[in-house]
Amino acid sequence: MKILVLNCGSSSLKYQLIDMENEEVLAKGLCERIGQDGAVLTHKPEGKEKYVKETPMPDHQVAVQLVLDALMDTEHGVIADAKEIGAVGHRVLHAGQKYSKSIVVDEKVKAVIRECFPLGPLHNPANLIGIEACEKALPGTPNVAVFDTAFHQTMPPKAYMYAVPYNWYEDYDIRRYGFHGTSHAFVSARAIEFAGLDPENSKVIVCHLGNGSSISAVLNGKCIDTSMGLTPLEGLPMGTRSGDIDPAIVQFVANKEGKSVDEMLNILNKKSGMLAVSGKSSDFRDLNDGMDNGDERCKLALEIFCYKVAKYIGSYIAALHGVDAIAFTAGVGENDSVVRKMVIEYFDYMGIKLDEEENNKRGDDRYISTSDSSVKILVIPTNEELRIARETQELV
Ligand code: ADP
Repeated sequence: MKILVLNCGSSSLKYQLIDMENEEVLAKGLCERIGQDGAVLTHKPEGKEKYVKETPMPDHQVAVQLVLDALMDTEHGVIADAKEIGAVGHRVLHAGQKYSKSIVVDEKVKAVIRECFPLGPLHNPANLIGIEACEKALPGTPNVAVFDTAFHQTMPPKAYMYAVPYNWYEDYDIRRYGFHGTSHAFVSARAIEFAGLDPENSKVIVCHLGNGSSISAVLNGKCIDTSMGLTPLEGLPMGTRSGDIDPAIVQFVANKEGKSVDEMLNILNKKSGMLAVSGKSSDFRDLNDGMDNGDERCKLALEIFCYKVAKYIGSYIAALHGVDAIAFTAGVGENDSVVRKMVIEYFDYMGIKLDEEENNKRGDDRYISTSDSSVKILVIPTNEELRIARETQELV
């Protein structure tokens, strides 16, 4: 079976067509600037030339059709007929407390995705538009929703409840949900497999460090805590997000600068984090270059980030009553050997030892700890699309 994986953002659409016979990616690509001037499709068919088409995309319906046309194109295509697509797996941000697993989309599921618009105001509407566009473009082909929050639904109340008035939870569903669930699920399962751990008796910490970053504590394959909360703003400082702060700062600066709460939240989401501390960039490659060239603020940004990652790992070792493996993944986790070293150095007291040579190598799933390290440290490239495709196949 061939499965189309779609990840719709407010103005973008990422896709992969995966042949589940061998889990090979037949084609992948991206529509950018949907609903704006200068919309462009970039289509990369396996074994063929990349194809770039600038063409108006007034909405996601048009974008989905362009993707299908590209997949079936006589020159750049990889399939002859849309009927070859057995199912579509959609990345959907938020399912609130409704779903802890992926699900085949029907009217009820769409209603839940709609109900969760207030919890995921940027993503859920775009995700639903993507689903409805596929329903129209591929009638009869099942759509599966794979939720970013689902993996974290196994957290116990002591991990997901905030210590705020209880009716906020009862009336407004205010609690911690966590995100990047598909990645945490994929990487924790792969870490258990790779390290030869007993799935029913394993303690794994996954560090998903990218432009957005989150950490999760996974006990016997189930998430018991994660660093993002009601929204992706909580937890680690990120490319442009502040992560945890004293909430009183919002009131203090809003009063000083005459800003609204919405304006303050926009600053905390888009103009904070590594970008704000360094004053230069949200990209860790630039921060590393800056630090190498003696830029004190780039160095401080990296120090703040790694210190916070280490503090979360420390707290999750306590939450798990120990740890068997720590896995690094995503753009920074997979590529930034300096960040990994700066994080792991905090744990030398407990006999966790980094193998510097392995840490500096690039590649696929691998150990970066020494053979006598008390805990296994791994780099596991995440593959959210493959996880979505696997879950979609299972359900259809
Ligand atoms: P997201 O999915 O959250 O947008 P990614 O997981 O793709 O982000 O991570 C993107 C980030 O990874 C970039 O902003 C960059 O900081 C970082 N990154 C990518 N390659 C490298 C590298 N070779 N060294 C250090 N950081 C890198």
